[in-house]
Amino acid sequence: MQTTDNPRVYVPGDANGRDPVLHVAKEQGRLAGQNIVAAAQDNPVEPYQHIPHKVTFAGVGLYPVVQIGHTTRSAHEAGHATVTVSREAADDGVFRAKDVPHGLAQVVVDADDGTVLGYHAMHYHADAMAKTMQVLVEMGLDIRDVPDRAYHPTTPEILDGLIREASARVADAEWPDEIIVEPRQNFN
Ligand SMILES: Cc1cc2nc3c(=O)[nH]c(=O)nc-3n(C[C@H](O)[C@H](O)[C@H](O)COP(=O)(O)OP(=O)(O)OC[C@H]3O[C@@H](n4cnc5c(N)ncnc54)[C@H](O)[C@@H]3O)c2cc1C
Repeated sequence: MQTTDNPRVYVPGDANGRDPVLHVAKEQGRLAGQNIVAAAQDNPVEPYQHIPHKVTFAGVGLYPVVQIGHTTRSAHEAGHATVTVSREAADDGVFRAKDVPHGLAQVVVDADDGTVLGYHAMHYHADAMAKTMQVLVEMGLDIRDVPDRAYHPTTPEILDGLIREASARVADAEWPDEIIVEPRQNFN
Protein backbone atom coordinates (compact mmCIF):
# COMPACT_ATOMS: atom_id res chain seq x y z
CA MET A 1 0.00 0.00 0.00
CA GLN A 2 3.03 2.32 0.09
CA THR A 3 3.25 4.72 -2.83
CA THR A 4 6.30 4.32 -5.05
CA ASP A 5 7.23 8.01 -4.78
CA ASN A 6 7.05 8.29 -1.01
CA PRO A 7 7.14 5.22 1.29
CA ARG A 8 5.67 7.37 4.09
CA VAL A 9 2.41 7.66 2.12
CA TYR A 10 -0.02 4.70 2.22
CA VAL A 11 -3.07 4.23 -0.02
CA PRO A 12 -5.49 1.75 1.57
CA GLY A 13 -8.99 0.98 0.26
CA ASP A 14 -10.62 1.67 -3.09
CA ALA A 15 -8.11 4.39 -3.94
CA ASN A 16 -5.38 1.83 -4.73
CA GLY A 17 -7.59 0.28 -7.42
CA ARG A 18 -7.42 -3.34 -6.22
CA ASP A 19 -10.31 -5.37 -4.79
CA PRO A 20 -12.68 -2.42 -4.19
CA VAL A 21 -14.88 -4.04 -1.51
CA LEU A 22 -15.57 -2.99 2.04
CA HIS A 23 -13.94 -5.78 4.06
CA VAL A 24 -10.70 -5.34 2.09
CA ALA A 25 -10.74 -1.54 2.64
CA LYS A 26 -11.22 -2.10 6.38
CA GLU A 27 -8.38 -4.62 6.65
CA GLN A 28 -6.08 -2.43 4.59
CA GLY A 29 -6.90 0.66 6.67
CA ARG A 30 -6.09 -1.22 9.89
CA LEU A 31 -2.81 -2.57 8.48
CA ALA A 32 -1.80 0.83 7.07
CA GLY A 33 -2.24 2.31 10.56
CA GLN A 34 -0.13 -0.48 12.09
CA ASN A 35 2.52 0.04 9.41
CA ILE A 36 2.70 3.79 10.09
CA VAL A 37 3.32 3.04 13.78
CA ALA A 38 5.85 0.29 12.93
CA ALA A 39 7.78 2.55 10.53
CA ALA A 40 7.87 5.34 13.12
CA GLN A 41 9.48 2.84 15.52
CA ASP A 42 11.95 1.65 12.86
CA ASN A 43 10.23 -1.74 12.65
CA PRO A 44 9.52 -3.47 9.31
CA VAL A 45 6.20 -2.81 7.56
CA GLU A 46 3.99 -5.66 6.32
CA PRO A 47 2.54 -5.99 2.82
CA TYR A 48 -1.23 -6.55 2.60
CA GLN A 49 -2.00 -10.14 1.62
CA HIS A 50 -5.34 -11.88 1.75
CA ILE A 51 -7.16 -14.91 0.45
CA PRO A 52 -9.81 -13.78 -2.06
CA HIS A 53 -13.34 -13.80 -0.58
CA LYS A 54 -16.05 -12.35 -2.81
CA VAL A 55 -19.83 -12.59 -2.98
CA THR A 56 -21.78 -11.14 -5.92
CA PHE A 57 -25.58 -11.15 -5.93
CA ALA A 58 -27.47 -12.50 -8.94
CA GLY A 59 -31.00 -13.68 -9.63
CA VAL A 60 -32.63 -11.08 -7.32
CA GLY A 61 -30.23 -12.13 -4.58
CA LEU A 62 -31.44 -15.75 -4.59
CA TYR A 63 -28.38 -17.00 -6.44
CA PRO A 64 -25.23 -15.40 -4.98
CA VAL A 65 -21.93 -16.02 -6.74
CA VAL A 66 -19.14 -16.88 -4.29
CA GLN A 67 -15.39 -16.90 -4.93
CA ILE A 68 -13.10 -17.97 -2.12
CA GLY A 69 -9.42 -18.83 -2.45
CA HIS A 70 -7.88 -20.72 -5.35
CA THR A 71 -9.56 -21.81 -8.54
CA THR A 72 -8.22 -25.00 -10.09
CA ARG A 73 -6.17 -22.89 -12.50
CA SER A 74 -4.67 -20.55 -9.89
CA ALA A 75 -3.92 -23.53 -7.62
CA HIS A 76 -1.97 -25.19 -10.44
CA GLU A 77 -0.15 -21.94 -11.15
CA ALA A 78 0.80 -21.85 -7.45
CA GLY A 79 2.27 -25.35 -7.73
CA HIS A 80 -0.52 -27.48 -6.23
CA ALA A 81 -1.74 -30.78 -7.65
CA THR A 82 -5.50 -30.58 -7.17
CA VAL A 83 -8.70 -32.50 -6.76
CA THR A 84 -11.70 -30.47 -7.97
CA VAL A 85 -15.23 -31.64 -7.22
CA SER A 86 -18.47 -30.08 -8.49
CA ARG A 87 -22.03 -30.66 -7.37
CA GLU A 88 -25.33 -29.42 -8.82
CA ALA A 89 -27.74 -27.86 -6.34
CA ALA A 90 -30.52 -29.95 -7.87
CA ASP A 91 -28.67 -33.11 -6.74
CA ASP A 92 -29.86 -32.27 -3.20
CA GLY A 93 -33.64 -32.50 -2.85
CA VAL A 94 -33.77 -29.59 -0.41
CA PHE A 95 -33.00 -27.12 -3.21
CA ARG A 96 -35.80 -28.55 -5.36
CA ALA A 97 -38.21 -28.54 -2.42
CA LYS A 98 -37.48 -24.85 -1.76
CA ASP A 99 -37.98 -24.12 -5.48
CA VAL A 100 -34.40 -22.85 -5.95
CA PRO A 101 -32.96 -25.76 -7.94
CA HIS A 102 -30.45 -23.85 -10.08
CA GLY A 103 -26.69 -23.53 -9.74
CA LEU A 104 -23.74 -25.53 -8.59
CA ALA A 105 -20.81 -25.53 -6.17
CA GLN A 106 -17.18 -26.51 -6.56
CA VAL A 107 -14.42 -27.20 -4.08
CA VAL A 108 -10.68 -27.24 -4.92
CA VAL A 109 -8.44 -29.35 -2.70
CA ASP A 110 -4.71 -30.09 -2.61
CA ALA A 111 -4.44 -33.65 -3.98
CA ASP A 112 -1.43 -34.49 -1.79
CA ASP A 113 -2.48 -33.40 1.68
CA GLY A 114 -6.20 -32.63 1.40
CA THR A 115 -5.89 -28.90 2.23
CA VAL A 116 -9.03 -27.02 1.18
CA LEU A 117 -7.79 -24.40 -1.31
CA GLY A 118 -10.94 -22.87 -2.75
CA TYR A 119 -14.72 -22.79 -3.03
CA HIS A 120 -16.61 -21.37 -5.98
CA ALA A 121 -20.35 -21.50 -6.25
CA MET A 122 -23.57 -20.02 -7.50
CA HIS A 123 -26.60 -21.37 -5.67
CA TYR A 124 -29.21 -20.47 -3.07
CA HIS A 125 -27.55 -19.76 0.33
CA ALA A 126 -24.02 -19.77 -1.17
CA ASP A 127 -23.47 -16.40 0.56
CA ALA A 128 -24.07 -17.97 3.98
CA MET A 129 -21.86 -20.96 3.12
CA ALA A 130 -19.08 -18.54 2.11
CA LYS A 131 -18.34 -18.00 5.80
CA THR A 132 -18.00 -21.72 6.51
CA MET A 133 -15.78 -22.19 3.50
CA GLN A 134 -13.68 -19.12 4.38
CA VAL A 135 -12.90 -20.78 7.73
CA LEU A 136 -11.88 -24.04 6.00
CA VAL A 137 -9.69 -22.24 3.44
CA GLU A 138 -8.07 -19.67 5.72
CA MET A 139 -7.31 -22.27 8.40
CA GLY A 140 -5.89 -24.64 5.79
CA LEU A 141 -8.00 -27.56 7.02
CA ASP A 142 -7.71 -31.06 5.56
CA ILE A 143 -10.99 -31.87 3.80
CA ARG A 144 -10.90 -35.34 5.35
CA ASP A 145 -11.18 -33.78 8.85
CA VAL A 146 -14.29 -31.76 8.02
CA PRO A 147 -17.63 -33.16 9.30
CA ASP A 148 -19.90 -34.18 6.40
CA ARG A 149 -23.24 -34.44 8.17
CA ALA A 150 -25.46 -31.36 8.07
CA TYR A 151 -29.00 -31.72 9.39
CA HIS A 152 -31.40 -33.06 6.76
CA PRO A 153 -33.06 -31.36 4.91
CA THR A 154 -30.84 -28.23 4.95
CA THR A 155 -28.99 -26.50 2.15
CA PRO A 156 -25.46 -27.14 3.57
CA GLU A 157 -25.97 -30.74 2.46
CA ILE A 158 -24.45 -29.50 -0.81
CA LEU A 159 -21.19 -28.99 1.12
CA ASP A 160 -21.42 -32.50 2.57
CA GLY A 161 -21.61 -33.95 -0.93
CA LEU A 162 -18.51 -32.01 -1.96
CA ILE A 163 -16.62 -32.97 1.21
CA ARG A 164 -17.41 -36.69 0.81
CA GLU A 165 -16.38 -36.89 -2.83
CA ALA A 166 -13.24 -34.77 -2.44
CA SER A 167 -12.17 -36.75 0.65
CA ALA A 168 -12.56 -40.01 -1.26
CA ARG A 169 -10.50 -38.69 -4.16
CA VAL A 170 -7.72 -37.36 -1.91
CA ALA A 171 -7.58 -40.72 -0.15
CA ASP A 172 -7.31 -42.42 -3.54
CA ALA A 173 -4.30 -40.50 -4.80
CA GLU A 174 -4.75 -41.82 -8.33
CA TRP A 175 -7.50 -39.29 -9.09
CA PRO A 176 -5.95 -35.80 -9.25
CA ASP A 177 -7.26 -33.34 -11.85
CA GLU A 178 -5.68 -33.63 -15.23
CA ILE A 179 -5.25 -29.93 -15.93
CA ILE A 180 -2.73 -28.38 -18.26
CA VAL A 181 -2.37 -24.74 -17.33
CA GLU A 182 -2.19 -22.67 -20.50
CA PRO A 183 -0.69 -19.16 -20.37
CA ARG A 184 -3.38 -16.57 -19.63
CA GLN A 185 -4.79 -14.70 -22.61
CA ASN A 186 -3.57 -11.14 -22.79
CA PHE A 187 -6.54 -8.78 -23.12
CA ASN A 188 -4.49 -5.56 -23.30
C1 LIG B 1 -23.21 1.58 -5.09
C2 LIG B 1 -22.14 0.81 -4.37
C3 LIG B 1 -22.43 -0.42 -3.81
C4 LIG B 1 -21.44 -1.11 -3.14
N1 LIG B 1 -21.76 -2.33 -2.59
C5 LIG B 1 -20.83 -2.99 -1.90
C6 LIG B 1 -21.16 -4.21 -1.25
O1 LIG B 1 -22.30 -4.68 -1.32
N2 LIG B 1 -20.18 -4.88 -0.56
C7 LIG B 1 -18.92 -4.37 -0.47
O2 LIG B 1 -18.07 -5.00 0.18
N3 LIG B 1 -18.57 -3.22 -1.07
C8 LIG B 1 -19.50 -2.52 -1.76
N4 LIG B 1 -19.17 -1.32 -2.35
C9 LIG B 1 -17.77 -0.88 -2.26
C10 LIG B 1 -17.48 -0.23 -0.92
O3 LIG B 1 -18.43 0.79 -0.68
C11 LIG B 1 -16.07 0.34 -0.97
O4 LIG B 1 -15.16 -0.70 -1.31
C12 LIG B 1 -15.65 0.93 0.35
O5 LIG B 1 -16.53 1.92 0.76
C13 LIG B 1 -14.22 1.51 0.21
O6 LIG B 1 -13.85 2.17 1.39
P1 LIG B 1 -12.78 3.31 1.34
O7 LIG B 1 -12.60 3.75 2.74
O8 LIG B 1 -11.58 2.85 0.56
O9 LIG B 1 -13.42 4.48 0.44
P2 LIG B 1 -14.74 5.32 0.68
O10 LIG B 1 -15.75 4.56 1.48
O11 LIG B 1 -15.12 5.82 -0.68
O12 LIG B 1 -14.24 6.51 1.59
C14 LIG B 1 -13.45 7.56 1.09
C15 LIG B 1 -13.85 8.83 1.83
O13 LIG B 1 -12.92 9.86 1.50
C16 LIG B 1 -13.65 11.05 1.31
N5 LIG B 1 -12.83 11.94 0.47
C17 LIG B 1 -12.57 11.85 -0.86
N6 LIG B 1 -11.77 12.85 -1.24
C18 LIG B 1 -11.50 13.56 -0.15
C19 LIG B 1 -10.71 14.71 0.11
N7 LIG B 1 -10.02 15.31 -0.86
N8 LIG B 1 -10.65 15.20 1.37
C20 LIG B 1 -11.31 14.59 2.37
N9 LIG B 1 -12.08 13.49 2.20
C21 LIG B 1 -12.17 12.98 0.96
C22 LIG B 1 -14.95 10.59 0.63
O14 LIG B 1 -15.96 11.58 0.81
C23 LIG B 1 -15.24 9.32 1.42
O15 LIG B 1 -15.99 9.58 2.58
C24 LIG B 1 -20.14 -0.60 -3.04
C25 LIG B 1 -19.84 0.65 -3.61
C26 LIG B 1 -20.83 1.34 -4.27
C27 LIG B 1 -20.48 2.68 -4.88
